[in-house]
Amino acid sequence: MKLRSALAATLLPAMAVAMAPPPSLAAAPMAAQRQAPGFYRMHVGRFEVTALLDGTHPFPVDKLAVGAKPGETEKLLAKHYLASPVEGMINAFVVNTGDRLVLVDTGAGDLYGKEAGGLSQALRASGYAPEQIDDIFITHLHEDHVGGLVKDGRMVFPNAAVHVSRRDFDFWTDDKNQAEVDALLKPFFPSVQGVLRPYVEAGRLIPFEDAAQDLIPGLRPVPSPGHTPGHTSYLLHDGKDAMLFWGDTVHVAGVQFDDPHVAIKYDWKVPGAIASRDKLLADAVGNGWWIAAAHISFPGIGHIAASEAHGYAWVPANYTLNR
Ligand SMILES: [Zn+2]
Repeated sequence: MKLRSALAATLLPAMAVAMAPPPSLAAAPMAAQRQAPGFYRMHVGRFEVTALLDGTHPFPVDKLAVGAKPGETEKLLAKHYLASPVEGMINAFVVNTGDRLVLVDTGAGDLYGKEAGGLSQALRASGYAPEQIDDIFITHLHEDHVGGLVKDGRMVFPNAAVHVSRRDFDFWTDDKNQAEVDALLKPFFPSVQGVLRPYVEAGRLIPFEDAAQDLIPGLRPVPSPGHTPGHTSYLLHDGKDAMLFWGDTVHVAGVQFDDPHVAIKYDWKVPGAIASRDKLLADAVGNGWWIAAAHISFPGIGHIAASEAHGYAWVPANYTLNR
C-alpha cells in the first residue's frame, strides 16, 4: 500500500499529463445471449443436492393472479423492483443419495419452446448424465415439470423409474377432467399424456398412493394438494438437516410471500392451493427447513422467514463456490 500511494503521489500526475488516453477496450461486440448452463450444488446432511436451471420465461402476473386486491400485485412487485411480466424460473433438482441418483421434476423440455429445455445440458455441466438417473419424483403433472421427460418422443432418462402421486396420474390421464380446469390448462392433458406415454409403455411409470413413509430412504412425500389434485412436495431428511422440494407452492416470490392468499389461474382448486401454501410456509418456518423451489430465482434454494407485520420473506441461500 505504501509503495502504491507513493507512486500515485509522484508518478501519476506526471503520467496523466504526458500520456494520451488509451484506446477503448470495450469495442468488442457483447457476446453472450444466454447465461452459462445453470447448476448449483450444496449438501443436506449426507445428501448432495444440485439445482438445475431448465429455463426462464415471462410470467404475466397481472393476468394470472387470482384473489388479489385491486393494485396489490403491482404494488408488491414494485417493492421488489419488478413489474409484470416477471421473468419466471423453471428449476429442477438432482439428489445424489450415495447409492441412487434422483431427479425431482424434469423442466419443460420442448413444451415451452426455446425458453426452456436446458435441463439436460445443465445436468451434464454439473457432472452427471441423464442415463445415470435412477428415480424421478414428480411434484405434479404440469408441462413445466414433466416436459423434460422426453425429447423427440424418446425417453431422456431411459434407466429411470418415474414416481408420481396416483391422484395426479389418474386426473391428468382422464380427458373428462378437462371440464374442471381453466382454459389455460386444457392443452396440458394431451401434452402431459404424450410425455408420460414412453415411460408407461416401458413399465417405468410408478404411481404411489398417499403415504407418510419414505419412498426411498431419506425422501418422504408431503401431500400438498390444491394446485393440482395430487400435488406432492418431498422432504429430504437426514437427522436435523432437511430440505423441502415444494414444487409450485409459490409461483411469484415478489407477491406470494407478502400475501400468500394470492393464488394463480393455474391452480386446480384455489382454496386448497392457499391452504397447502399456508401449511408449508408455517412448517418451513417452524422446522427451519431448506426450501428448494421450482419457480423462485435460480437456484431456488433458501429459507423462509416469518415477518411480524405481514406474511413471510424469502431468504436465499448464501452463494458458496466450493462444496
Ligand atoms: Zn410450475
